[in-house]
Amino acid sequence: MRLKRGDAAYEQARRGAVWNGRTPDRFPDVIVQAETLADVVTAVRDAAASGMRIGIRSGGHSWAGNHVREGGLLLDVSRLDQLEIDRSAMTAVVGPGCRGIAGKLAERGLFFPGGHDLDVGAGGYLLQGGFGWNGRVHGPACMSVDAIDVVTADGELVHADEHNHSDLLWAARGAGPGFFGVVVAFHVRLYRAPAYIASSLLRFPFEVADEVFSWVDDVTPTLAREVELSLFVHRGESGDPEIIVTAPALVNSAEEAAEALAFIASCPLLEKALEVVPNQPASLSDLYAGVGGLYPTGARYAADNMWTHAPASDLLPGIRAIAESLPPFPSAMMWNHWGGEWPPRPSMAFSVEDKTYLAVYGVWEDPADDARYASWPEERMQAMAHLSTGIQLADENLGRRPARFISEDNLHRLDAIRERYDPKGLFHSYMGRLPSPSEPLGQPSGT
Ligand SMILES: Cc1cc2nc3c(=O)[nH]c(=O)nc-3n(C[C@H](O)[C@H](O)[C@H](O)COP(=O)(O)OP(=O)(O)OC[C@H]3O[C@@H](n4cnc5c(N)ncnc54)[C@H](O)[C@@H]3O)c2cc1C
Repeated sequence: MRLKRGDAAYEQARRGAVWNGRTPDRFPDVIVQAETLADVVTAVRDAAASGMRIGIRSGGHSWAGNHVREGGLLLDVSRLDQLEIDRSAMTAVVGPGCRGIAGKLAERGLFFPGGHDLDVGAGGYLLQGGFGWNGRVHGPACMSVDAIDVVTADGELVHADEHNHSDLLWAARGAGPGFFGVVVAFHVRLYRAPAYIASSLLRFPFEVADEVFSWVDDVTPTLAREVELSLFVHRGESGDPEIIVTAPALVNSAEEAAEALAFIASCPLLEKALEVVPNQPASLSDLYAGVGGLYPTGARYAADNMWTHAPASDLLPGIRAIAESLPPFPSAMMWNHWGGEWPPRPSMAFSVEDKTYLAVYGVWEDPADDARYASWPEERMQAMAHLSTGIQLADENLGRRPARFISEDNLHRLDAIRERYDPKGLFHSYMGRLPSPSEPLGQPSGT
C-alpha cells in the first residue's frame, strides 16, 4: 500500500508506524507498507528516481521514532515477518518484522538472544546490537547474524556474508539507525534452549540505595554469565521511590539455578528488603510478562542511556537525583550488569559497551505532560555524562543528546562503507552524532 500525505489513511499509518504513543511531529511525503520483497525494491527505486530520502520501519520501537522523518518516504517492512527455521543446521532466516523471536523458538526447544520485549522488531533490534535474554552468554544478538539480504540504494538485492559484501555485514552488526540499505532478511545462528529458567527478586525502599548498589558492586564479579542482574528504580505503590532487583537465570537445571542465584539468598540486606523471592522456577513467557508490564502500549515515552564502569559510589549522586525527580510509575531507571568475561567479539561496527548499562525511561499518559517529562531522561543522563563511556543505540536519543555510540575508528569505516553503498545519502542516518575530533561542531538534525 502506498499512501500520500493528505490521503485518508495516511495519518493512521504514520501513527501506527511508531510504537511510542508520542508520535514525532514529522511527516513523510509518502508511506509505503511493503508486503513483498518486490514492493521494497520498487519503493527504493522510486524514491531514488524522485529524490526522496528513505526512513525504514520494522517493529517501530525506536523510542525516538527515528524512522519517521520530515518529507521523503517512510518504508514500512513490518509485514516481512518470516521466521524460517532449519533445525538440522541450527539456523533461521528472520524477516525484519518478526517479533518475539526467543518466545517463538522456545516452543521448539530452540533459542536466540532475542530482546526482552515480545514486540520489538528484529530489524531495528539486530542492527543496533541487540541486548537480549542470555546476552552475556551469546554477546549482542548481532554476533549471531551470519548474513543479511539487503536492498541497497541502487535497488539491487544483495546477500552479504563473511565472503561477499562483507563490509555490509560488518556495518549491519551494530550500525543501528545509521544503516544504509533495507535489510529484508537476517540469517541467524540458533542455540539450544536453556532447559531450566529461574527468576528471583528483591524489593527495597530507596533509603537503602547506598547499601544495595555497593552490594551489587561486590557481587557482580562473581556472577554466572547466565544470570542477568538488573536493578530498577521507580515509584512504588506509595509513590516513594524503591529499588527492584531482578535476576533471572537461564540455565539447564534446578541445581545450576540454585548455584547461580545463591548470591540473592545470601544478600546481607535481606532484613531491609520489602519483598524477597530468592529462586523461583519460571518460563520465558513469565520473564516476557514481567518486562511487558514496564512498557504499557499506547503510553508516551522518552528514553536515554549510558554505558559506564564507574563504581556505585560515583554513580549514586546521579542515581539519587534520578530517584528524586522520577515521573510516575512505570517511569524508571534501569541498571543492568553487562560485564564479565564476554565471548570474543568479531570485527563489527558494534564497538561501544561497558560493565554497566544505565537507562532512564520516562513514561506518562497525558500529552499535556510532554513538556514536563520529555526532557527528563536526557537531563539525567547529561548530568552523569562525565561517568559515561558511551551509549547503546537500543535506547538512543541522538536527535536530542548526541553521544558516542561506536568507536572513532569504526565510525570512520562505517562512513566510508556508506559512501560506497549509498553515495547520495538515500537512506536517512542518525538524527545526531558527535563530531569527530577533526570535524567542526555539527548540530543534531531532527529530520
Ligand atoms: C518496549 C521496548 C523494549 C525494548 N527492549 C529491548 C531489549 O530488550 N533489548 C534491546 O537491545 N533493545 C530493546 N529495545 C530497543 C529496540 O531494540 C530498538 O529501539 C530497536 O531499534 C527497535 O527495533 P524495531 O525494528 O522495532 O524499530 P524500528 O523503529 O522499526 O527501527 C529502528 C531503526 O532501525 C532501522 N531499521 C529498522 N528496520 C530496518 C531494516 N529492515 N533495514 C534497515 N534499517 C532498519 C531504522 O533506521 C529505524 O529507524 C526496546 C524498545 C522498546 C520500545
